[in-house]
Amino acid sequence: MNDAPVLMEITPTTHDLGDFKVNRSLPARERTMVGPFIFFDQAGPATLEPGKGIDVRPHPHIGLSTVTYMFEGAFMHRDSLGSVQLIEPGAVNLMTAGKGIVHSERSPDNERSGSSAISAIQTWLALPDGKEEMEPAFEHVGANQLPIIESGGTRARIIMGSLWGQTAPVTTYADTIYADIILSAGGAIPIDAQAEERALYVTDGDASLDGQSLDPQTLYVLRPGIAATLRSGSGARAILCGGEAFGTPRHVWWNFVSSSRDRLMQAREDWEAMRFPLIPGDEEEHIPIPQGRPKTVSYP
Ligand code: MN
Repeated sequence: MNDAPVLMEITPTTHDLGDFKVNRSLPARERTMVGPFIFFDQAGPATLEPGKGIDVRPHPHIGLSTVTYMFEGAFMHRDSLGSVQLIEPGAVNLMTAGKGIVHSERSPDNERSGSSAISAIQTWLALPDGKEEMEPAFEHVGANQLPIIESGGTRARIIMGSLWGQTAPVTTYADTIYADIILSAGGAIPIDAQAEERALYVTDGDASLDGQSLDPQTLYVLRPGIAATLRSGSGARAILCGGEAFGTPRHVWWNFVSSSRDRLMQAREDWEAMRFPLIPGDEEEHIPIPQGRPKTVSYP
């Protein structure tokens, strides 16, 4: 029996969005999901010149929750439920599209005057069977509401789910784990085997898992049922994510996720005909439906 903790390595594809680059690890050819995670992007880090900002114009989603987690920078979130929420480092925006939502993400005005940073992890969680067409919802959980674990030269923030004996207050629709782990030089933290599916992604620094060195900007899918220890010699930052395995496959087309390909095409027609709800206060612009095969989603 192979008990090495790493099952599979996924090298992300890089997409240049102009002002910044994203490294996309999921969905990948060799693996669509890790638990409910069906989309995993590292955005940046990048520095925007003074006067520049990011404007992700209104666009739709179905069948998923978007989870925005910033390392640096800020975004103003607006959606068709009327939510208006600034997100800053350490906080979580969880936007659940369900049967359909429209949102925009724009740099706040005060970030545009000087140079500004952007560095974030953007993920999508597929909604489980029976919840794909739920009513849309939005929640923001501040950095000070998320549990922090500090031990052995490690500081970890639990973003979603239960880890190391504590539970984040963020809503989950399927079993989910999600954490931001900062290892100082010589730091270590246990990666237990409770979640059915797990992956580790090192954003920077040097890290190893039970002695296997982990390259930055690579998603390591872990072997189910094998506990391991994450360590760093000189310091590192890593994301741990995962959760329950889905029994039915999910399909992705542009910003839409569904167990039904017909439902994806229905959403495409609905956006083309502007049958989605509008965002109060951000009704003037929108991202048109891509013609042909979309390469890049509307970020985030
Ligand atoms: Mn979006």
